[in-house]
Amino acid sequence: MLIEENIHEIQQGLSDNVKLIAVSKTRSVEEINEAYKAGVRDFGENKVQELVAKYDAFGNDVRWHLIGHLQRNKVKYIVGKVWLIHSLDSIELLKEVEKQYSKNNAIANVLIQINIGREDSKTGIKLEDLQGLIEECEKCSSVQVNGLMAIIPIGNEENCRNYFKEMKRIYDELSKKQYKNIIMDYLSMGMSSDYELAIEEGSNVIRVGEGIFGKRIYNNKQEEQ
Ligand SMILES: *Cc1c(COP(=O)(O)O)cnc(C)c1O
Repeated sequence: MLIEENIHEIQQGLSDNVKLIAVSKTRSVEEINEAYKAGVRDFGENKVQELVAKYDAFGNDVRWHLIGHLQRNKVKYIVGKVWLIHSLDSIELLKEVEKQYSKNNAIANVLIQINIGREDSKTGIKLEDLQGLIEECEKCSSVQVNGLMAIIPIGNEENCRNYFKEMKRIYDELSKKQYKNIIMDYLSMGMSSDYELAIEEGSNVIRVGEGIFGKRIYNNKQEEQ
């Protein structure tokens, strides 16, 4: 019952405009079910194969979020299964998403992931490439951009706040523009250790894994992203 308690505790502190995504990577269907019973309907996975397997185990009232890096050759497996892709980070990926979704007469809802800390170890588009990606998004017919996502570098509170503030500034700036296919509804930032800070700085989508399910144990050489 710990999962349920964790969820209730987190939710009590959230205002209505903040969406909680339970990050269920590496977790069993039973664990996900416990979160489901506690009222969670949004689940985040970082691997396509795992997401698709879990998708099949649940009904349609669960919203799956792809929060990890998306490889171009995997896009075809997620059409119709993912409620929101958080990790659009290149024009090449955009083109594949457009191709696969238009083939299926579907609309891909995506967030642009920004590598706000400019870390080589992380995916996400660099700021100087953002405008180019936006222009390509405007040409699409099957892609809708709904906001931004970031995974910030590890750091102290002040560092974290600065990255969150920077993201909020970009988000607000884009909100004022009238781009085709692009609206700013979601700012996805904040994880177990820093979601409260993220919300204070303007996040409205938080992605919480260990804070709900407990410590993650990786087996078969699976790496944390
Ligand atoms: C794993 C993961 C999370 C959740 O991390 P926790 O520290 O378990 O809350 C959030 N976002 C992304 C992109 C992740 O891969």
